[in-house]
Amino acid sequence: MKTKTQLAAEARQSGRKFFAATCRRHGANSQHYVSAVMCKQCVSEQTKRYYSTPKGKAAAARQTAKRFGNEVDRYVYLMKCEIAGLAYIGSTTMAPSRRRIDNFNKLRSGSHHNPALQAAFDEHGEKSFSFEMLAHFPGQPEETLRQYEQFYLDAGEVRGLRLVNVKRASVAAPQR
Ligand SMILES: [Zn+2]
Repeated sequence: MKTKTQLAAEARQSGRKFFAATCRRHGANSQHYVSAVMCKQCVSEQTKRYYSTPKGKAAAARQTAKRFGNEVDRYVYLMKCEIAGLAYIGSTTMAPSRRRIDNFNKLRSGSHHNPALQAAFDEHGEKSFSFEMLAHFPGQPEETLRQYEQFYLDAGEVRGLRLVNVKRASVAAPQR
């Protein structure tokens, strides 16, 4: 019987990135990485464990900062329904046009994460809704954007419309 190292070498020679072998924890025919000679599921579990430790969390934060750091354009947008008298503020690193489409698609399919916004959409329809950019932050750290968003959330309303955001921007997961 061939060892995993032998199987990995064979797979590498034939240009494959994975090979099948028995993993003690995940059974026969488990996919293994040629590069790590390790079962995919084992690696995934190990990664998960790592990112739950303080060291892993710090590393994840650094990676996020790098990825969504100063080179990324950020936008704060406003969705409103004048008829229902409500507004929703979000922030995104997506292109505004894409974010707009994304939001409307979710509302149309009834799967928008904000219940108040969804209810207004269902009741008053798409024509009562508008989407606009409030601010553009070219090359700003995420923190700046959060503070700006928070400013509006603290005010509780935008142009006389009730804000229906439920979470504080500082703790909410970024809407990308
Ligand atoms: Zn395994």
